[in-house]
Amino acid sequence: MVDGKLVEVRDLKKYYPLRTGLLKRHVGDVKAVDGVSLHIVEGEVLGLVGETGCGKSTLGRTILRLEEPTAGRVLFEGRDITHLGRKALKSLRREMQMVFQDPQSSLDPRMRVGDSVGEALLIQGVSDEEERWARVEVLLERVGLEKEHALRYPHEFSGGQKQRIGIARALAVTPRLIVADEPVSALDVSIQAQILNLLADLRLEFGLSYLFIAHDLSVIGHISDRIAVMYLGKLAEAAPKADIFQEPLHPYTKALLSAVPIPNPHLRKERILLAGDVPSSLDPPSGCRFHPRCPWAFDICPRVEPELLLRGSHLVACHLYR
Ligand code: SF4
Repeated sequence: MVDGKLVEVRDLKKYYPLRTGLLKRHVGDVKAVDGVSLHIVEGEVLGLVGETGCGKSTLGRTILRLEEPTAGRVLFEGRDITHLGRKALKSLRREMQMVFQDPQSSLDPRMRVGDSVGEALLIQGVSDEEERWARVEVLLERVGLEKEHALRYPHEFSGGQKQRIGIARALAVTPRLIVADEPVSALDVSIQAQILNLLADLRLEFGLSYLFIAHDLSVIGHISDRIAVMYLGKLAEAAPKADIFQEPLHPYTKALLSAVPIPNPHLRKERILLAGDVPSSLDPPSGCRFHPRCPWAFDICPRVEPELLLRGSHLVACHLYR
């Protein structure tokens, strides 16, 4: 592993071609991920934040090869996995797992929970049913459920419990990386904290690394070591968590941060209201993609795309820091 990097993504792109008419003529591409480079160090939690539609979920799925990259490279422990064949991908999937926003979608409603979690163990080669069931019970207890829950069906559980089952399923194959895609955003606030604490505990216990995807900076801040901010398919900024929260550089990061509630009523901060919605990634704005909404935009911004440059502990793509 080079420099302790478990995952490295180099100039990754994921475009979805848009075709119309009888002849399915190619008329453009939805550029969901458009040249992103980042890394995740072994044992680290990298938080990935941005508004809905910025490409963060697609990036997570493309890293796991659930989506085929259009261009760029994905390295796992220094090994290029961008073009791995199906067989090699299958064994790689044991190392990289996903926890979904909607745990229901990853659970078969006709299968008992024990069978769903056990399926992952079967794939891993645990063929003895008794052993499999014993390990399922241990896993369920480890994620805060009871071993008797193995006999029940998904509809008998609350949203938070289903998410615990989803986590148990991911853990069953002893992964090293978990891509958690908005794992708490569908849950009540009180349950969110429980699931975040569980993920934090499991990380330490199993030496896991996470790519933790969310649209809410306060959720991301709860669990991440570093934070990467995405806007319209590109990275706007990346830095250690404390530096993002204390001294955000990119105007988009500042705007996201200004919307995070602070618990101290004596502290006031000015909310930065962004004009308009996120533009379409089918036809992104020229130059800096954030320029139509940026309160600090100036003459060069619509003309020239800013590079992602190192400024102190931050990587930032903004002409203000040239
Ligand atoms: Fe705003 Fe210009 Fe910086 Fe883009 S490059 S974030 S438009 S100041």
